[in-house]
Amino acid sequence: MSSTPEPTVFERIAAREIPAEIVFESERVIAFRDIAPKAPVHLLVVPRTAEYRDVVELGAGDPALLQEIVATAAELAREHCDGQFRLIFNTGEAAGQTVFHVHAHVLGGTLPEGSLGTE
Ligand code: 5GP
Repeated sequence: MSSTPEPTVFERIAAREIPAEIVFESERVIAFRDIAPKAPVHLLVVPRTAEYRDVVELGAGDPALLQEIVATAAELAREHCDGQFRLIFNTGEAAGQTVFHVHAHVLGGTLPEGSLGTE
């Protein structure tokens, strides 16, 4: 008997089962504010599919979707923080990844100098 994996927190946000401040939606991508912002602007850009755990899998499996995520991040940064932003894909637990449904962090506004701004 095969079992269906539990939906990820991001799938549940896309399905409106968990509330979030959604700032963008398209057929394949959704973006919303991070619940624990690490910068004045902190958005998550997420493919609707949970098929890819991290950016390495996504880049190998669907480079066009990765490109859409980067383009969405740039467009949202133009709207929210003058087009200047830091784009982070935590990859692996030791690198700080906690949700294994690939997502881009878009950080903008005034970021701390000399750090990656994620501490
Ligand atoms: P990671 O640590 O995997 O790179 O990033 C996961 C991010 O998802 C974290 O920055 C965390 O604050 C955010 N997050 C986790 N659960 C929720 C939630 O229910 N709603 C929102 N908006 N963000 C979440």
